[in-house]
Amino acid sequence: MSNFDELLRNNDRFAAGDLKGRQPAIPFLPHRQVYIVTCIDPRVDPAALFGLGLGDAIVARNVGGRVTPAVLQDLAWISYLHETKTPDAEWFELAVMHHTDCGSGLFADDRTRHGFTERGFDDAETAALAVLDPAVTVALDVRKIRGASQISSRIKVTGFAYDVKTGIVSTVVPPTEEADR
Ligand SMILES: [Zn+2]
Repeated sequence: MSNFDELLRNNDRFAAGDLKGRQPAIPFLPHRQVYIVTCIDPRVDPAALFGLGLGDAIVARNVGGRVTPAVLQDLAWISYLHETKTPDAEWFELAVMHHTDCGSGLFADDRTRHGFTERGFDDAETAALAVLDPAVTVALDVRKIRGASQISSRIKVTGFAYDVKTGIVSTVVPPTEEADR
């Protein structure tokens, strides 16, 4: 018995459907040309918040939805693929979305964080991952992406904050055009 048993049964039905009709021809060019970086919090599922279906978006999730070196590397890779494999295609837009009541806020609690970083993680780096005010950290992370030379300047970057109580996504950093960089 596993919690996945029912999910696998659901998958049987999914696989029996029309897969090809729902998938983009080129996987790094999702149907809606959007790439979303956000938190792993199950309340913050972009598919539910934005009405996305299979193949609509690239979604990267980690604790807090922070722009870490791993997130930047993935973005640089997709950016590179776009430039080299589909140079004439339209570009996707990127959004970083942080949210209220984020569990990453516990990284700011010294006692909790120290107990964790004793297991072999850098204390200062971990403390910097805390999302206490989504509007503040989203702006920081958008700046981090703009400052990364490996990422095409043709990607528009937006910063969102999501309120888990109201369900409202607000724009903190409006989509930045190439010329603004
Ligand atoms: Zn979170």
